[in-house]
Amino acid sequence: MTATDVCIIGAGPAGLMAAIHAARERAETTVLEANPNAGRKLLLSGGGRCNLTHAATIDELVRAFGKSGRFLRHSFHELPPEAVRAFFAERGLPSRVEPDRCVFPVTDRAADVRAVLLCESERLGARLLYRQRVADISTVNGGFAIRTNEQSFSSRNIIIATGGLSWPQTGSTGDGYRFASALGHDIVAPKPSLVPLVTCERWPAALAGVSLLRVQIWVAGDRKTSVTGPLVFTQDGIGGPAALDLSRALTDQLVAGVEGIDIRIDLVPDLSETALDRTLQEQLALHAKKALANVLAELVPRRLASTLCALAQCDTQLQAGQLKKEARRRLVGALKALPLCVVGTRPLAEATVTRGGVSTAQIEPRTLQSRLCRGLFFAGEVLDVDGPCGGYSLQVCWSTGALAGRSAGLSR
Ligand SMILES: Cc1cc2nc3c(=O)[nH]c(=O)nc-3n(C[C@H](O)[C@H](O)[C@H](O)COP(=O)(O)OP(=O)(O)OC[C@H]3O[C@@H](n4cnc5c(N)ncnc54)[C@H](O)[C@@H]3O)c2cc1C
Repeated sequence: MTATDVCIIGAGPAGLMAAIHAARERAETTVLEANPNAGRKLLLSGGGRCNLTHAATIDELVRAFGKSGRFLRHSFHELPPEAVRAFFAERGLPSRVEPDRCVFPVTDRAADVRAVLLCESERLGARLLYRQRVADISTVNGGFAIRTNEQSFSSRNIIIATGGLSWPQTGSTGDGYRFASALGHDIVAPKPSLVPLVTCERWPAALAGVSLLRVQIWVAGDRKTSVTGPLVFTQDGIGGPAALDLSRALTDQLVAGVEGIDIRIDLVPDLSETALDRTLQEQLALHAKKALANVLAELVPRRLASTLCALAQCDTQLQAGQLKKEARRRLVGALKALPLCVVGTRPLAEATVTRGGVSTAQIEPRTLQSRLCRGLFFAGEVLDVDGPCGGYSLQVCWSTGALAGRSAGLSR
């Protein structure tokens, strides 16, 4: 049996950041990873570009995480977004803040983010062992016995950083929930979050792949749910950051069996209804001989323009100059508050993150140590915390990884 001070299960972003911070405390640190290499999900993040954090203050982060924000505050203090940026910059990977405050490495390569983490873990002497799928963990003599498919380890401290249940092909298959549950922890039922939405309308299928850079979406009658961002139509509904963000407000109700939730999409959020009506009137007059759909295509993608004409009961081929006032009003209505009815989400396996997981009620927020089992720590998506799109999920990994790693490294 191989002995170590801190044993980390999972070499994703949370596990690697934990390894760095445990090793900094001079703890003998071992990371056990089931895959043949580290950070498979990290490599996919941000479409391969890795939106590594969000340029937000700690208060803004806390607010963005809603009920979990208070629990995460200590972690955010441990490694806030500017410290994350400094960490990577000091190791040769500066980052850039985009206008929406999403932060990307200047190289736009998630692989470079992983390389920094691996290089730093190695420099500090953390031992990374691959193809080691942990099968079970048991408590022995004030420490832990860890059995993998290959060998056994003993450790004074364990950090579970096995991720959630989304994209299981990357290695996050929910093992951490099983380990935590066996050690007495409650698991909040996992659900999809930041996930494409399925609508009862079939027409989005014909537009699959059509995207808009900026829309506003909200639950009908509840403007407080409003989110803004890019949108893409899919085979069975809508995706893209705006739809994913809205899914946070809908997923609990949909999983609980609510049959349909009416939403509205403002396809031109930068123009008020009056301004849009005026612009449309001007365009219709200017291009009076053009087909209506072609004039609309100045405002929205061409394929969407045809669909909007159909939804507003207008003939796409009608000459623009012949459009009646009533029909124009219907078009403006469709452009400013396109109705859809959400009947579900895509499955958890396709979600960006998992809502639910190891309950935070049984974890000390100042150390991320279990209140039930001394020496047991948690970091990353395995925890029951989930935030919006835009680098918040990785920020949780960096912050909780750093705090759990340092706490476990000091607890010897
Ligand atoms: C397509 C996609 C794009 C994303 N883009 C972004 C983005 O741009 N910005 C952002 O903030 N977030 C993004 N996310 C979310 C973010 O990637 C995750 O929240 C993050 O990777 C979670 O990190 P983690 O370390 O907690 O878990 P994971 O990254 O899931 O890592 C867990 C590791 O544990 C290992 N493991 C599991 N069980 C065992 C076991 N029994 N034994 C040994 N090892 C085990 C797994 O193999 C895996 O390597 C994206 C997610 C997806 C799916």
